[in-house]
Amino acid sequence: MQAICYDKVYVQSISLISTSKNITLDVLRLDKLHEVISGNKWFKLQLQIKACKQANKTTIATFGGAYSNHIVATAYACKLEGLQSVGIIRGDEPKQMNHTLQQAQSLGMQLLFVSRSDFSNKEQLKQSFHQDNWYWINEGGYAILGAEGVTDMYHWIDKSYTHVACATGTGTMMAGLIKGAAPHQQVIGITALKGHDSLQEEISHLLTPKETEKPFTIFNAYHFGGYAKHPKTLLDWMNYLYNTYQLPTDIVYTSKMLYGVFNLIESGYFADGSKIMAIHSGGLQGNLSLPKDSLVFA
Ligand SMILES: *Cc1c(COP(=O)(O)O)cnc(C)c1O
Repeated sequence: MQAICYDKVYVQSISLISTSKNITLDVLRLDKLHEVISGNKWFKLQLQIKACKQANKTTIATFGGAYSNHIVATAYACKLEGLQSVGIIRGDEPKQMNHTLQQAQSLGMQLLFVSRSDFSNKEQLKQSFHQDNWYWINEGGYAILGAEGVTDMYHWIDKSYTHVACATGTGTMMAGLIKGAAPHQQVIGITALKGHDSLQEEISHLLTPKETEKPFTIFNAYHFGGYAKHPKTLLDWMNYLYNTYQLPTDIVYTSKMLYGVFNLIESGYFADGSKIMAIHSGGLQGNLSLPKDSLVFA
């Protein structure tokens, strides 16, 4: 098994041709962190795994959909850390398991399938499945400890940056970036879900009252039709990013986030002298679900 290695992560600078202003854009290549636990998932899990061990529990139980990066990352991280893992999966057990579920299972995760309606009531599920030696992690790693683990990303983001941009699912990564930001650093979140109106509140739940006063902004207009939707305009954009900057992105999160950042730069949102760090949070394995030859990479 491959250990987590911060040395593989680097900052890629993007030379901008789309603006006459003096704006710097860098990309934090967390997709390089690990082949399986890519991007932000490790940061969200690390302190929760520690807490599990400190509580002398032997098993991590968590939730996810059939294509969840969080499920695979949890399975791998648990194996690496000598813990058992259980994944509660939304929907009936398929006859043929997809790549994500097969991978989780081969990493030793026990998969339990529950109906979509049962899946919507997590508290009920926790009560009915719970065992004494289980430590629960929310879907997507959503937790204060999850967000606190994300502050490690400032290892690569120094005070010279004025903005930090990220994609949002549960908002845990964004909450962590807000926690770790210096007072002058504004965090920008680009939503991957359509009509995710509760996000602001969900992020606030992970912050202290003081942290909620820090500058952060959510943009809802770059979801390309909704979660995991990938019209041709998005695939064209991904190919453009790769051809121009050798920057591979994923269809669910990072391509949409960078589209948003470029669009905000072009529309004059950022002041002269802005220095932006965009977080490449990984997820590239999600591109495997595309028909062959959709992308010039992958
Ligand atoms: C899971 C994931 C996200 C979403 O992170 P949240 O903390 O849930 O907002 C963003 N980008 C990638 C690539 C992911 O896999």
